Parts: sequence; structure tokens; C-alpha cells
Amino acid sequence: MERRITFAGVNSIMFHQRFKTDDDCLEYLSSVKWENGFSCKRCNSDKYCIGKKPFTRRCTKCRYEESPTSGTMFDKVKFSILKAFHIAFKISTKKKGMSSLELSNEFGLRQKTCWEFKWKLQQAMASSLQYPLTGTVHVDECYIGGPEEQKRGRSKVDKKLVVLVLEITDGGVGRVYAEVIEHSSAKELGAFLRKYVSILTAAKQMLNFSICWLCVLK
Ligand SMILES: [Zn+2]
Repeated sequence: MERRITFAGVNSIMFHQRFKTDDDCLEYLSSVKWENGFSCKRCNSDKYCIGKKPFTRRCTKCRYEESPTSGTMFDKVKFSILKAFHIAFKISTKKKGMSSLELSNEFGLRQKTCWEFKWKLQQAMASSLQYPLTGTVHVDECYIGGPEEQKRGRSKVDKKLVVLVLEITDGGVGRVYAEVIEHSSAKELGAFLRKYVSILTAAKQMLNFSICWLCVLK
């Protein structure tokens, strides 16, 4: 966080050099989104070809075409993705933030449009600060084993505590990971999340902007 503020000027230059066109932004989203390979949202197939629109990928099995913006907060934005990237950068790096009127003047957009996008962005950033991956994954815990009539309780030795993390996608639930843990403690849950919920996931969903922009600027 401090590094971001201290080097705000440098980062801004680098950011502007990195993202000059819509294609730069789409290419970036595409590279982050599919860094670990393609997996069709509809049928899970990993075979794809290039889609009709720039940087989209089309599943060769079910022909579903996915854009790099789907599942991110840049999906269905009413203005260019280049503007959206730059607004997001401004809002996430400016210490005092920017009003929708300032954004409207700077980016030549209607104030209401700016307000709506800013609100969307702030929701994502607020949740990301408190719970880095809220909105992209669901975490739950449950007990397995032992007679069904037993109450949920941590003292039941014949029951095992299982923690689950579910990836939420446009089409519903994506990957699911589960592990048996000893205690429902912050330490154990934290270790579990660090293991299964990568920074890449956060970047992919464009929720945690500080991490995301650092990735961009690395
Ligand atoms: Zn498919």
C-alpha cells in the first residue's frame, strides 16, 4: 500500500505506457484469466480456438465463446474498456479518490455513468480489503462422519471438520476444493485459503486492485 503511494507518479507513467488501447486491456485480461489454461465455463473442455471478437476464446466442443471481460467487473461496462481501466486505476491509486463529476469531466462520460461504475468499483475494492476474495469464492465448513442425529460440534471425535472453497463463476459453481482441518481457527483457515485461492484468482476477477495493479506493473 505504502509502495503504491510513494511511487504513485512512476506507477502512473508505467500504467499509461502499458495500457494505450482497448486491445492492450483485453490482452492483459486474457493473459491473466487464462494463464493456467483455458477451461470452458459450459462444458469444462480445455480445447479452444480463437473467437470472433478480439481476445475471446471459443470452446471447440460446445462452441461457447467467452470474452476476457466476462466474470470481471469490466463486463457489460457501457464505455470503452480502456476508459474503464484508467478510471479503475485512478480510483484505486488516488489517495482522496475522485468524484463522479471529476471523472465525468476527465473521461468525457455522463456523470451518472461514472457514478455507477465508481460504485461498482468501490464495492469490489471494499470487499477486497476486508475479505480479499469475497464475490469470487465461497468458503464453508461442515462436519462429515458420525451418526446423523449428532449435533454439529467440534468436540465430536468421530466427526471430521471439512472446509470447502467454491469458485463462483457466471455459470454457477466452478472448481471446488475441500480439506479436513483440525480446528476452525483463523490460522488453519488462512493456510487453507492461501493454498487454494491464489493471488492470480484475485487478479483474474479484478477484485483486489492493489494486487492486480502490482501484477501489471511488475
Ligand atoms: Zn464448452
